[in-house]
Amino acid sequence: MATGICDNLLLAVWLSAKSKVVVAPAMDLDMYQHPTFKKNMAYLASIGVEIIEAESGELASGLEGEGRLAEPETIVQYLKNIDVEQDFFRKIVLINAGPTYEHLDPVRFIGNHSSGKMGIAIAEEIAKRGGSVNLVLGPTDIRPQNPHIQVINVMSADEMHAACIDFFKQSDIAILSAAVSDYKPKIKSDQKIKKQTDHIALELVKTPDILAKFGQLKKENQILVGFALETENEIENAKIKLKKKNLDFIVLNSMRDKGAGFGKDTNKITIIDKSEKVLEFATKSKKMVAVDIADHIITKLK
Ligand code: C5P
Repeated sequence: MATGICDNLLLAVWLSAKSKVVVAPAMDLDMYQHPTFKKNMAYLASIGVEIIEAESGELASGLEGEGRLAEPETIVQYLKNIDVEQDFFRKIVLINAGPTYEHLDPVRFIGNHSSGKMGIAIAEEIAKRGGSVNLVLGPTDIRPQNPHIQVINVMSADEMHAACIDFFKQSDIAILSAAVSDYKPKIKSDQKIKKQTDHIALELVKTPDILAKFGQLKKENQILVGFALETENEIENAKIKLKKKNLDFIVLNSMRDKGAGFGKDTNKITIIDKSEKVLEFATKSKKMVAVDIADHIITKLK
């Protein structure tokens, strides 16, 4: 590559490429250290080729050391981040996602169908754009891929509240997308509740409204984003929540929209601003919806 010798298909592609070029070298231990190799790599870097350094480990020769091809996940992650504007750089972002489980006894709980997919997609998008993300995640099997996202696993609304409070103070942005249970059983039985009478009544008490609390604590320079999942009078109800909880904007999903809802890979959102400006978006993958939400936050930061 460095000398321009063009005697095979790969090098022919290289010499005619107008795009960005990334190389992930792999070589035996001593070859990787050779001054000729180092000089050629330095030259390639000087003309704009990006280099994914080889890793240390077992080599094809049986030797151990530097020269092993970077793991495929590392290469894919690197490529995914290429040319992405780092517009969340130095921003500390708290996101909560998923359902909460409120236990009745050691084996039963009150929960909901939230998968956490939307919040996880937002966490991935912001982390990719340089944000430092703390993700407080309720009980779900889905996990973010980006290893830089700090995940705090919680179970109940109380645990989610405690974890979020810990991070809110230091956060520039908080996005509360979790489907937090509004009520929990007044009493949690230590033992499994036995089947006895034909009717039993469950007494429920309110859980803390994390979003409303943050609306009160919020400082001038903090951006607070809430979600609303509505089944009727969507816009009016969302506007009431926006005001009541003192949010910068609210992301509305309607259960009446076909492409939106729990567990789906698509979503259809409407963003309502503090000024009550209403922005409607088309049905998109949750990944692309996350891009719209992140872009909207950036307009607020500016
Ligand atoms: O009032 P409602 O529960 O519909 O508002 C939804 C918004 O409030 C979501 O952003 C959700 O994460 C948040 N919420 C909360 N704590 C609760 C209930 C909801 O933070 N206990």
